[in-house]
Parts: sequence; structure tokens; C-alpha cells
Amino acid sequence: MAVLEKDARIGNYRVIRTAPLPHLNGTYHELLHEPTGARHIHIACPDDNNAFAVAFPTVPEDSTGIAHILEHVVLAGSERYPVRDPFFAMGPRSLSTFMNAMTWPDRTVYPFATRNPKDYHNLLEVYLDACFFPTISYDSFRQEGWRYQFAELDNPASPLGYEGVVFNEMKGSMSSPASVMYREIGQAIFPNLTYAHNSGGDPRYIPDLSWEALKAFHARHYHPSNAYFYTYGNLPLEGTLETIEQQVLRRFSKIDPQTAIPDQPRFNRPVRREATYPIAPGEPLAKKAQVWVGWKTAFVGNEVEILGLSVLERVLLANAASPLRKALIESKLGEALADGTGLEADFREAVFGAGLKGIDPEDAPAVEEIILNTLREQAEQGLDRAMVDAAIHRMELESREVSNAGMPYALKVFFQLAMPYLNGGDPYLALQFDAALEGLEAERAKGPFLEGLIRQYLLDNPHRATILLKPDPQMTERLEAEERSRLEAIRAALSDAQVQEIIHEAQALKARQEAPEDLSVLPTLEISDIPMTLEDVPHRVRESAGNTLGLFPQPTNGISYLDLQFEVAGLPDDLKDLLPLFAFVVPRMGAGKSSYLEMAERIEAHTGGIGAAVGLRTLPGDAEAFNQKFTLSGKALYRNHGEFLAILRDLLTDLKWEPSHLKNLLGQLKAGFEARVVQAGHLFAWYLAEAQFGGKFSLQARWEGLEQLATLKRLAGLDEAGLGALVDDLERIRQYLFRRAKVNVCVTSEEKELGGLEARVQELLAALPERSLLEEKTILPSAQLRPQARTTAVPVAYNAKVWRTVPYDHPDAPALMVLAQLLRTEYLHKEVREKGGAYGGFAVTRPESGTFALLSYRDPHVVRTFQVYGGIFEFLGRDLEAEKLKEAILGAAGDVDPLLSPDNKGRVRFFSDLAGYTLDKKMRFKQRMLEVHFSDLRRVAETYLQGEAALAVVTGEEKIREANAEMGGVFQVAGI
Ligand SMILES: [Zn+2]
Repeated sequence: MAVLEKDARIGNYRVIRTAPLPHLNGTYHELLHEPTGARHIHIACPDDNNAFAVAFPTVPEDSTGIAHILEHVVLAGSERYPVRDPFFAMGPRSLSTFMNAMTWPDRTVYPFATRNPKDYHNLLEVYLDACFFPTISYDSFRQEGWRYQFAELDNPASPLGYEGVVFNEMKGSMSSPASVMYREIGQAIFPNLTYAHNSGGDPRYIPDLSWEALKAFHARHYHPSNAYFYTYGNLPLEGTLETIEQQVLRRFSKIDPQTAIPDQPRFNRPVRREATYPIAPGEPLAKKAQVWVGWKTAFVGNEVEILGLSVLERVLLANAASPLRKALIESKLGEALADGTGLEADFREAVFGAGLKGIDPEDAPAVEEIILNTLREQAEQGLDRAMVDAAIHRMELESREVSNAGMPYALKVFFQLAMPYLNGGDPYLALQFDAALEGLEAERAKGPFLEGLIRQYLLDNPHRATILLKPDPQMTERLEAEERSRLEAIRAALSDAQVQEIIHEAQALKARQEAPEDLSVLPTLEISDIPMTLEDVPHRVRESAGNTLGLFPQPTNGISYLDLQFEVAGLPDDLKDLLPLFAFVVPRMGAGKSSYLEMAERIEAHTGGIGAAVGLRTLPGDAEAFNQKFTLSGKALYRNHGEFLAILRDLLTDLKWEPSHLKNLLGQLKAGFEARVVQAGHLFAWYLAEAQFGGKFSLQARWEGLEQLATLKRLAGLDEAGLGALVDDLERIRQYLFRRAKVNVCVTSEEKELGGLEARVQELLAALPERSLLEEKTILPSAQLRPQARTTAVPVAYNAKVWRTVPYDHPDAPALMVLAQLLRTEYLHKEVREKGGAYGGFAVTRPESGTFALLSYRDPHVVRTFQVYGGIFEFLGRDLEAEKLKEAILGAAGDVDPLLSPDNKGRVRFFSDLAGYTLDKKMRFKQRMLEVHFSDLRRVAETYLQGEAALAVVTGEEKIREANAEMGGVFQVAGI
């Protein structure tokens, strides 16, 4: 590649900055496209997972969801790709490691990543055309945004309703207290800026949006003069720039998009707000409110102050010993930190806030007092130096870690620099943790810098808001009633001609959704582009005294990873429901000579975190057989190996139970679980359906499903005597798990560190007590299929239908995986999302657990969706093009070979091998998948998906009442 020196030219681009990025083994390039003003940052580095993103500052002036709806519509057809849904259609034609589009209150981002160069260029062309030359058809505006529709499409006597993907997505989203709080923070702190509006769209205002306004918003915002491009990886930059220039930029001239966000005028005095969130009628209202106190702080481009505020966030809030967290939790006024607690740097000026949830509204002033008093104390007496050093250590570790967990590292780099990049700060500095840290240390050397930040940005800052969020049992019903009466008034005022137009438009949209289309205009990969091998991760395995040790050399950038896996199977059944709680509390209790507060400080100062989890894994040869394991994991910088292992040893051999702290932790665990039910209702519906199969699935429901939530609710209500008994039970679990018997340990680090680590791990294992205990055999229930529904305060539904299939080794398992891909992209996406207006409709197979599921997400329907599920055979009976089979195979191929990173390559390999998922078996699975034919898909569908299925729904009371009335009361209903 040519050397991209400053002022070098590539086409109409000029290089405006080049700088080294030693921690990435790479170089930073910033370029400007002079004729249009488009900006470009390129990170040249050896990573073959190449990434692209284009971001546009988008600044809505109302709550119609204009930016979010545009994000959806842009992906629904463009000039060169005039098909219904090029973005979704590309999914199965690609081997991408990431493809998405996201809307924030002040920006919209279109990122992707892939390891295949041909795929990179395919996706680049589709993304560019979508963003800059979208069709924005009237139909796609109505499909994705909102439309009027009669309940029965062409029957004007049936009720008039609103439909639309975003409309339903936001109904689901606005049911979660966390989303409500986030919107309220934007409104409270930035009343004069775009952040005051609901950028996702408030379902009450979405129907105010017009198609014309949407097109105008695109023309102004999605313009090269308002575009921020980003590329990353080992592909030469020149090719990308040429494509962008030829395909897009040469067709534009410069404009002033006027999207810069000004400073929010500063308040003279603090403000207060109250808001409500929906809760199911009949649910007790005590301790369901939350209060948050927060301030507008520094500009996100101010690296040193933002780093200082991030350090403050960690010191004050990160763990049990953090003074502000401790004061809030130990007040016993609530159960967990409020939503929105911490530093929120997703606004142009960062917001720092803290609060408590699970409180009574009368206690809000007391919580506010605690926050202000604690900050005052900390500013006056000075922060604990050791805690500040510990927080800085943790941030150093995080800045070094190259992990693809959650999102490819290639794109994490973009999100690290995005806020300064889009807001006139210095994006290069955002990648220079060491330089910002030096700046911070220089300030700390001069005086009490962090304490000064507490005064300047918090205590002495009148730009403060207090938000009280209260539960409202009537809210869902009230909003639905408001919507109904609004629609009735609209219906009454409609002329016959307007009625006919609604019917006509609905038919036209349906016809368009059903029309066959030619996807051959879209670029695609071929089966031959799928890599035929799976990476054989180098490692060695040691067996000693019944324990198995896997040693994995990886380029970990100075960090070591340890996973210790303990056997759970023989634990008495009455203790098994407590395992998720046990996993949560073990790394949070005191141990050895440390109280739980001291232990929290040790973990912060010497590790990158210690966590634990319990899980079960089906064995490859038998769908009934499974293992049950408890895993304790942690990571640390090399220099801290000694203390890291000492902490593990204390936790494993000398844990100290503290009942009052246990009670606090129970509240936090329960609050987190409750929040997940609204966010991921489809998973809970899925577990609820699978639980009907009995066996291992009943255990899964007890650990991960709504049954676990019931367990946590019961435990959170225990009195002192009850807590004492709970501690005894947890201690029985500890005695059973933490002993020298069949422990599997995975060690990942650089080669030079492995020897030393191995010796330390052997010492740790030798320190575990030898105990022989009675092994119990858990008797699990047998299958009992009975459709289940659980209700909570959501105006949408999550519908699940699940069948049992075959274990991983069975020759039909790969065909089922391809079938799931085909049904998802060709059938459910169309029927459940496009036509049904749900946010998502999926077919999922978990080849490892031997099930096949149809799921819907934020779905306005129950009955209709189950009818769609019933239509899969009719769909499979149609003539399907050969191209569809290829796409389904390509799509499934990505799932069996996911992108891994140095931190988890060893873990995945080691624990797969131990459970019997060897490299050979994985290769055979992949090979079979590539050879699947249509006839196989029809055959496996007939063989496995015609038997009785398990059904489950998570939704609101009214929806299930209606569904049961129509479906003959099949669902057994209970509250959550
Ligand atoms: Zn969306």
C-alpha cells in the first residue's frame, strides 16, 4: 500500500493526518474529501476482520421517530438494488461478522464487518447505495413506519388500527423502565436540544409523521457533507475510497447540513421531573419507584476531563466498596442502582448521574440527600488513593483487551472514537488511552484534580435534574384506550372514498410484499467462498489427580484468562434452584482475611473482573444426556498473576457469608432479571415452551427462565431467619462444588506466561479440600405439553412454538440448521415482520440442544402469528429457487464458525472438546451442511416438525384474553 503521508492525495481525498497506533500494531489516517467535505478515518492494521461504517449526525425536532424510521426505510430498497429488502436479503448472501444499523438520539450509524474481501466489497456497495440513494417508497414508509389498517384488511366494519414495524418496536421498548428513564434524562438535562425528543419514536406521535417529511430529512442528513466514514483492517484503503468516490461522492456538491448540536444553555437552578412506567395491574406497588439525580458535565471531546469523570464513575460506583454505591445500597431504601446510573457519554456533553430503584416514592428525597452528602464527603476528605489507582488499573486493562465479545473489535474502535469524531473533538486522542492517562496523572500531581471535578461538575453545578419514576398499573390500558378512541374518531370522520383508499393501499402493500422478486441484482458469495476448514487452535492438555488443564497460547496483549469448571450434577436437587444466586454472590462476598468490601477492592485493583455462571450442555450423541457445570472465570494483567490467584484461592477455600450483604445482592440480582423480561421476552417465551419437554429443559427453566425469577422474588422477601437458612444452603453448595474432584481449568495467555501460570494453578488446585460427598441423582420431570402464557405489563407479545429434534451428531442436524435459516429469511421475516408488523420473526435451531423454535419479538399479534407458524409446510411445498438454498447454507455457515478472539478461542475449544464437540465432529457437521438439498429440508421438516409442539406466549393480560377467546382457551395463563 502507498504511504499515506500528510497532504498526500487519493482521488479527491486529501490525507489530513497520519499517526501511529502501536497498541493495534497499526496506523491512523484521517482524510477529507475536498469537493463535498465528507470525512474519513481509516485504521490500517493486520486484522483480517475488515470493517466499514458510515455515520450521520441526525437531529430530530420532534418525537415522531423520524430518524429511526428513516434508518429502517433506507434499508428497504435503493437505486441499484430496487428490491424490497436488500439489507435483509444480503444477510444470507454474505459471511459478515457484523451487519446492522443503529439510531441514537443524535446520530445514525450503518456498520458492518467481514473476514472475506469479496464480501467486504459486496457489502460496501449495498451499504453505500442504501444510505445515499434509497428509494424511500411510500409502501416501505408505511410498512416500516406506520399505516392505517382494518383488522380484517378489506372489511371496513372491522376495527381500524395502526400497524408498522417501528410503531410496534417502540411500543415494546417504551414498556421498559430503563427506556423511559433514558428518555426522561434527555428531556430533563437537554430541554433545548434534539435530546429532548424521543428519537426512537413515541407511539403516540409516530402517526404524525408524513412521507414527505421523511424524504426531506434524508436529503438533508444523509449527504456526504454530513457523512463520517470509517474503515478498519488489512485491505488497502485506495480501493474503498475509489468505490465511495465513484459510486457516491462525485454525484454531490457541498452543502451546510446544519446538524451541529449547540451547547445546552446552563440552568440557574436544579430541575425536578416525575414520570411513570407501566406495571401489570394487580402487581404490588410498594418499592417499585426509582429516583435519579444527574448533571450535565464535560464536552465529550475533552479527553482528560472525560477520562477523569470515567475514573470517578468507577471509584464511586463500580463495586460494593465504591462509596456512592455503598451508601445507596446500604441505606436499604431500595434494591439496586437506578437506570441511568454512571457516566453517559452518548450525549454531546456527558451526563453523570446516580440513583436507586426499588424504592418508595416518599423516600426519593432521602436518596437524593445520600447522593449529595456522599459526594460532599468525598470532595472534602479526598478520594481513597488506592481506589483511584485500582480504577485506573481496570481501565488500562480494558484499553488493552482485544475482544470480539458483543461486537467485533474492528467496530469497537469506531464506537470509541465516534463521539469526538462527530462532534468536533479529536478522534485520534480518543484511541490514545496512555496519552489521556498521562494528562490525567499530570493533573493529579498538581492537586486534588478528581475532587475538583466533583465540585465543578456535580456539587457546584446548578445544571442538575432529579427524576422520579413511578409505576402506573393503568398506564398500558390507558394508552391503549387513548389510541382506540383516537382511532375511533378518525374512523368516524372518514369518507367512503377514504375508507376505500385505506383498503386499496393495504391491498397494494400486501401485493407488493407477496410479489416474487429478482434478487439477482444483489451481489453474493458462493458456497465455494465458505472456508472449508475450522481453525485448529494450538494447545496442550495436562491431566493430573483427576483434574484437566488446557493451556492455550494466544496473543492476548498482556492479559491472562482463567476458567475453572466444577461439576454440578450430583448436587442435591433442593439446592439447584439456588445456583444462579450462588454464581452471582461468590465473587462478591468476603473471603480469606478480606471483608466483602476489601475483596471488592482487591478484585478491582488486581483483576479485570471475576464472574461465575451455571449452565448445562447437551452431549453430542444423545439429546437426553447433558452435563451441568459451574464455571468461575477471571482475567488479569501479567504483573498481577500472584494476587489474581490469591483472590481465587480465597474465594474457593475460605468464603465468608455476610447475610446483610447477601440480602442487598439478592435485590440487585432480582432487579436485573426483571429488567431482562421486557427486553428479551422472546427468550423467556422460548424457555417456557421448552420447559414442557421436561428433563434438562425443566432445569434450564429453573436457572434461566421465569421460574428463576419466581425463586428470586421468593428469596428477596425472606426475613432474618429465612436468610440464615439460605446461608446454610449456599454453604452446602460451596462444600459440594469447591473441592478437588474433576475440575477443568482453561488457561489462556502468551506462551511465555503459560509455564508460570500452570504452576500457580496446580498450587491452587492442591489447596482445594478433598471431600467425598454423597452424589444425588436429580429426578427430572417427563414431558407434558400444555400451552403456557405468562402476563406482564407489555402491549406486545412474544410467541414461541418449539419442537424436539435430534442431537448434534445425528446426520439430520445440519439440515435442520439450514431449514431454520431458510424459514427465517424467506418466510417468517415476510409474514411476521413485513406483513404482521412485529419487530422480528425468527426460526432458530439449537443443534446442541436438539430443538427447533419459531419465535416472534415485539409482536402485535398472537393468534395470527401462530397461524403463520402453522403455514410452514404450505411454504415448503412451493417451488423454491436454487439460489434460496445456497443462501440458507451461506447464512448457516456463519453460525457454525463464529468470529472468535484471543480471549475466547481457548475457552471455546477446551470446553467443546471436554463435552465431546471435537474438531472432527464440527468439521463433519459443516461438511454435511454444505451438501444439504431441498429434498433434505422438506424431509427433515416432515420428520421433526409435524409432531406435537410446545407453545408459549409472554404478553399483556388483554392480548392473551383475546387470544384465548379465539383459540378455545388453549393457553394456561399466569402472571409473572
Ligand atoms: Zn428499529
